[in-house]
Amino acid sequence: MNSAWSVEYTRLIITLVSTVLFGLVTELWFLSLAIHSVIYIGWHLYQLKAFEQWIKRGAPVKSAPDTSGVWALIVQHFYRSQKSNKDRKKHLANIANHYHAVMSALPDATIVLNEKSEIEWANKASQEILGIDVIRDIGHPLDNIIRDLALQSLLLSDGEQSEVEIPSPVDVLKTLSISKLQYGEHKTLLIARDVSQRIAIQKLRKAFVANASHELRTPLTVISGYLEILDSDDELPTTTGKVVNNALQQALRMEKILNNLLTLSKLEEKSSTKAKGETIAVASVIRRLVADFEDPNSSQQHIFELNIDETLQLLGHEQEFYSLCQNLVSNAIKYSEDDAVIKICWSRNADDLACFAVSDSGEGIAKEHLMRLTERFFRVNVARERKIKGTGLGLSIVKHILDNYGGYLDVQSQLGEGSTFTACFPLSRII
Ligand code: ADP
Repeated sequence: MNSAWSVEYTRLIITLVSTVLFGLVTELWFLSLAIHSVIYIGWHLYQLKAFEQWIKRGAPVKSAPDTSGVWALIVQHFYRSQKSNKDRKKHLANIANHYHAVMSALPDATIVLNEKSEIEWANKASQEILGIDVIRDIGHPLDNIIRDLALQSLLLSDGEQSEVEIPSPVDVLKTLSISKLQYGEHKTLLIARDVSQRIAIQKLRKAFVANASHELRTPLTVISGYLEILDSDDELPTTTGKVVNNALQQALRMEKILNNLLTLSKLEEKSSTKAKGETIAVASVIRRLVADFEDPNSSQQHIFELNIDETLQLLGHEQEFYSLCQNLVSNAIKYSEDDAVIKICWSRNADDLACFAVSDSGEGIAKEHLMRLTERFFRVNVARERKIKGTGLGLSIVKHILDNYGGYLDVQSQLGEGSTFTACFPLSRII
């Protein structure tokens, strides 16, 4: 048995024995019981008071009540649990301080916002990157400090938008990328980093591709011109004729690649201007396109089924829209059997968006390739598709045009059954 409890029981037994002896000697049993009860209960009340006073003073270890028995045990348990609580608090405070120090030392600006987009906390880098005063600006709405429409729409967006690029509020030559993370109950974490270098490299790469394509085009036109003249010469020996024809085909392919790269560069340049353009008579553009593909001299004779909403028109640039449709229809032709049916549809979808859809019953595309189709130079089966004339840039062009128009490309495909490519345009583009 615990020694503290032994002391307590001994104390109780002594009190009882003393009560009985006093009763036997005096024969005043009731008085004996009353006196001993008062002494025993009084002693416990005294200990209780001492304990209560000690807790009130914050339970300092130095002035712990000098007691014995069960009261000593209670004081001991209380002190231990106090100490372990203090240790836990200290540990948690250390962790919090550690994370605070890490967040403060982050090279990216890190800001915590409440549900009203007011700044609750910001690290040191926020001052340098966003011009936020980490003391003065606490409690102020972020959009009062940084006035930028893209940032405002990021703050208002409910999860669907998570990143924007804005010009730096402290240095107009710099560009910042701001990411938003939602956590806890209506708390927002914003992380801003300087992406000027990446953007400068991107610009440099784009300028290089555009310049190189431009510079290569003229000499290549000359080469393919000469090759065409040679190719049409009937007096060339058969083997030389084959070599010349092969060289001509490759030169023409290179010309196509350069033209596509230049188209992409122009689309990239345009993405910053987002001009609305003119009204496109879509129905007649599609008919012209189909007529261009229905060449009676071509070996491939596909059957086109059209379903066109004559009243649905688009705001944009006819040449770009034509190029988008041409890329999708030419792919349907390239990747399906001769004489196959190709369905072309121009109508509103369930969300009222204007959509141009091309369906074929060709070879289809495996699921794992779908995400990569719009990457530059991506071709599903490079070895096999070398025989099919293409550049791997067509769908990149389609995607760029749609990005500039605020639309999107949807691809549904089943291996061996065919594909449907749908280009959807937003309501703001429909008239
Ligand atoms: P390409 O000039 O090679 O056709 P695209 O960018 O237009 O380049 O297409 C990229 C790749 O996507 C193609 O190489 C092909 O593998 C695949 N693809 C595109 N359209 C279809 C389609 N209708 N059916 C099957 N595969 C397709």
